[in-house]
Amino acid sequence: MGERFLILGGTGEARALANRLNGLGLDVVTSLAGRTDNPLLPDGETRIGGFGGVRGLATYLRAEAITLLIDATHPFAARISMNATEAAHQAGIRIVRLERQPWKAATGDQWHHVQSLEDAVFALPERATVFVTIGRQQLAAFMERDDIRVVARAIEGPKITLPKSWTMILDRPPFTLEHEIALFTDYRVDVLVTKNAGGNETWEKLLAARHLCKPVIMIDRLPKPAVATYETIDEIMSVATAAPKPF
Ligand code: NAP
Repeated sequence: MGERFLILGGTGEARALANRLNGLGLDVVTSLAGRTDNPLLPDGETRIGGFGGVRGLATYLRAEAITLLIDATHPFAARISMNATEAAHQAGIRIVRLERQPWKAATGDQWHHVQSLEDAVFALPERATVFVTIGRQQLAAFMERDDIRVVARAIEGPKITLPKSWTMILDRPPFTLEHEIALFTDYRVDVLVTKNAGGNETWEKLLAARHLCKPVIMIDRLPKPAVATYETIDEIMSVATAAPKPF
């Protein structure tokens, strides 16, 4: 029997990887958590929804005769990566991770590094207008601060009611530098809050902050479990298309 790959997705890279593997006629299924109502789906087989923890994922890996688990989830999706590592171990199959490089500050940047969302909220200057780009799931944390004005951007609207003073922008990356500069200017943004997601699609907001000399509260990544990790789709393609190795 040939190789069968499971990609844990939720990122543009996961989608691109699935398309590449599928284009070679390889047997690949992509799994999404089901957080977005209208996800962009990759080519090939897909499944949507949680597995039910480590045990559920290990059961799925065995039942579907998966031979290589590819964790291509977002750098801030911590639980699924922990579950994947343990489930691959239990099922006795290989696991690799596709994880893009974190962004790095350069001359002119005013990045204030924090370790958590709560620290980011705490670090905001009083009465600031804050451009928040952390997705829609965790926006409630910013309601702790009734002195700030929030301009939040996400692909889909949050399921909570936001304060009247907030502005919610629904938009899908990529964004140009001109677009980001106009946004900072139009909304009179004082400070940007972002997770260190890395990648090119949402990088221009950081260039806009540099250009306009605006500070950035950068939520740093926490370490993920120690598995073989590759930064590019080409590297993962080499691993996936190489002869199978014993676990
Ligand atoms: P998480 O906290 O690591 O995972 C929570 C639970 O969601 C997991 O235990 C699992 O449920 C389920 N899950 C997560 N990813 C899954 C996948 N690819 N396929 C099937 N089930 C999955 O994840 P999160 O931070 O909520 O992120 C959810 C998804 O959104 C991830 O796939 C991630 O790639 C994507 N995403 C996250 C962020 C972010 O900032 N966190 C940003 C962009 C995209 P069970 O335990 O029931 O299996």
